[in-house]
Amino acid sequence: MAEHATSIFAEMSKLSHDVGAINLGQGFPDVDGPTVLKDEAIAAILDGRGNQYPPANGIMPLREAIASHQQRLYGIALDPLTDVVVTTGASEALVSAIMALVDDGDEVVVFEPWFDIYTAAISMARGVRISVPMAGPSLRPDIEALRAAMGPRTRLILLNSPHNPTGVVFTREELTAIAAIAIEHDCLVLSDEAYEQLWFDDHRHIPISTLPGMFERTITVGSGGKSFSFTGWKVGWATGPTDLIGAVRVVRQHLSFVSGGPFQWAMALGLVLPDEHFARFRHELTEQRDLLAAGLRSIGLRVLDTEGTYFITSDVRPLGYPDGLAFCRDIPTRARVVAIPHQGLCDDPDIGGPYVRWAFCKKPEVLNEAISRLQRGFGG
Ligand SMILES: *Cc1c(COP(=O)(O)O)cnc(C)c1O
Repeated sequence: MAEHATSIFAEMSKLSHDVGAINLGQGFPDVDGPTVLKDEAIAAILDGRGNQYPPANGIMPLREAIASHQQRLYGIALDPLTDVVVTTGASEALVSAIMALVDDGDEVVVFEPWFDIYTAAISMARGVRISVPMAGPSLRPDIEALRAAMGPRTRLILLNSPHNPTGVVFTREELTAIAAIAIEHDCLVLSDEAYEQLWFDDHRHIPISTLPGMFERTITVGSGGKSFSFTGWKVGWATGPTDLIGAVRVVRQHLSFVSGGPFQWAMALGLVLPDEHFARFRHELTEQRDLLAAGLRSIGLRVLDTEGTYFITSDVRPLGYPDGLAFCRDIPTRARVVAIPHQGLCDDPDIGGPYVRWAFCKKPEVLNEAISRLQRGFGG
């Protein structure tokens, strides 16, 4: 595991702390989620709901809420008894699925840049990671490279849409092409949909499991932390066909076993909030996205379209930097702002190259202060 010991997030957070920077590297909101969820978590603790080990696969009201949410938004039919497992965040769902499905030497195809937990989990399972780039000027999934990456040992395609760090939401056409490749090679798909609620404009999130022939080969992962702005509660879930979820449950049972009892009650309430709640959440984030994008453009960066997630990607070349890593190492002292270079999330430094990730899930006053600092640092 030595190669996974350090992370770009640790390096940049240390820099941020050393100079008192505004940390737009870290992807968590600085405003908590709905008060009704906090009240429910407190009530659950006081009433003694979930203070002792909750049921192994999650409390039934939460499993039912997850199933009805998938039905209501996407038309996916799930049996909460067998097709859902509650986990310690999306993270544990991902690790459990990879440990359950990947054997020594099996190949896992993953789009690069990736979320760093994927690569560590693939190593834990002794799998082999095969990276496929997000490519071109808009960093879309490279379908031809995916086709070329498939082989007899390919076990799993690991998808993430809305995609961290690029902010790309995979289109129906892209997902259809990926689905055809998965079916042709008879491999499984692990779909990390941690940002399923965080899509903007008309870039509506489509779960790949809704495409023909895909439900039976897909494990879908959700994150209560990301969906409800309570990242510290670490409630997540995996859903899918009974056999695949059964395999995930076995591993999960021997990792954390259970967690977050009272928070599970709160998440059950969150998932049945009306559509207007989610629309308002998206609207607020859209405004924060637009604020930060305009600020980044004002100092001369090229800003890519952000279709989903908490993150804007910019290209630093117009400011004369050789690459994103050099830029991110310089701006803490130059402007007292911190961001994350895509290179820290890639096998091939050329793929991350000039790109930098900025989190906009912050209060407007924080974003405005970061923008002023950047403008001063870059002489604007
Ligand atoms: C944050 C994140 C996760 C982990 O979610 P938790 O619920 O906090 O464990 C998984 N995948 C992606 C892409 C993320 O950004």
